[in-house]
Amino acid sequence: MERMIYLDNAATTPTAPEVIEAMLPYYEERYGNPSAVYEFGNISKNAIDETRKYIAESIGASPQEIYFTAGGSESDNWALKAVAESLGHRGNHIITSKIEHHAVLKTCEYLEHNGYDVTYLDVDENGFVRPEMVKRALRPSTILVSVMTANNEIGTIEPIARIGMITSRYGIRFHTDAVQAYGQIPLNVNNLHVDMMSASAHKFNGPKGVGFLYIREGRNIPPFVHGGDQERKNRAGTENVPGIVGMGKAARLAHETMSERIEQESRLRDYLIYSILKEVPYSRLNGDFKKRLPNNADFCFDYIDGPSLLVMLDMDGICASAGSACTSGQEEASHVLTAIGIDEERARGALRLTLGAATTREDIDYVVECIKKNTTKLREKSEAFCKMQLIQGYPNKK
Ligand SMILES: *Cc1c(COP(=O)(O)O)cnc(C)c1O
Repeated sequence: MERMIYLDNAATTPTAPEVIEAMLPYYEERYGNPSAVYEFGNISKNAIDETRKYIAESIGASPQEIYFTAGGSESDNWALKAVAESLGHRGNHIITSKIEHHAVLKTCEYLEHNGYDVTYLDVDENGFVRPEMVKRALRPSTILVSVMTANNEIGTIEPIARIGMITSRYGIRFHTDAVQAYGQIPLNVNNLHVDMMSASAHKFNGPKGVGFLYIREGRNIPPFVHGGDQERKNRAGTENVPGIVGMGKAARLAHETMSERIEQESRLRDYLIYSILKEVPYSRLNGDFKKRLPNNADFCFDYIDGPSLLVMLDMDGICASAGSACTSGQEEASHVLTAIGIDEERARGALRLTLGAATTREDIDYVVECIKKNTTKLREKSEAFCKMQLIQGYPNKK
């Protein structure tokens, strides 16, 4: 492959070389089962304990509140299903938002099939869930609220602390899918007033297939996997020791470099946003200008077929996305873009660019150049665009 510019860090991130280096010994010489009684197994157990301690510290929690899982989807499934099951006797009402990841939305649909009543809150035009709306949606039968910390398509950072203040006042469980936020922005479970938080290692330069669920002490929920005594009997199965160690290393790296990365990435992100809005006619930014993830830029280009644009960018060596990885390849418009009021026609021309630590200003210049070139080409072939031009005149024609 020639030059590749990877701007799909919301889908997954490259595994950091330091992470791989930290994991290798747990595949090679330190392969002992953490549950074994001999010292050799203890080496693995200690490695897990250490990671648990660090992950807990990174979000202001205690080690016994961290449960290792097989990633973000599992953490979300566990949180929602377990609260539904354990508090089903108290009520059957769950509140979430229309812009959640499918790991939450599809779990809610599953729960609906099983007799639960789910309210899917509307968001405003920038993708914010309004805390007042959460409050208004509460019922005596409400047992759970689940709102993501930051959206994976449009990058909007939700007012989690304000929502958490409401749920904690009413004693309602509050879960947040922090898969896009953990490792990118500072998070503290106490400041945010959350009872449960999901995260996934491969979104912060860790390995795929490993994540964690934070469960606040005292908010006991039933186990997700039945079997052995691992994860304090809540999630059975021999631990993914190399994965957990890798996630621990990635978490450390993410937090050590966080403030620097936030500054660097948000500067490049803003440069990208302003360049696109300036250089590409009929373009708009999705999501909020300010309260957005440092690495997220999400656009809609009118009179453009997003999938075609993605293919052209791919030929230019650029990895980008039309939105969430789960919706790409599907004909349906993104549920997130629909929820912020973008019509289907416009939503088809969506493009998400998510930066990483390796992204440079030169990359951005090249990407903007390619988007400009390719959107011009596509529009020349678009009947709707040509018609519109006849009526309005092309804005760049001087
Ligand atoms: C990626 C993602 C998930 C799923 O995480 P996996 O580890 O891939 O299962 C869930 N929620 C959000 C917001 C995500 O971005």
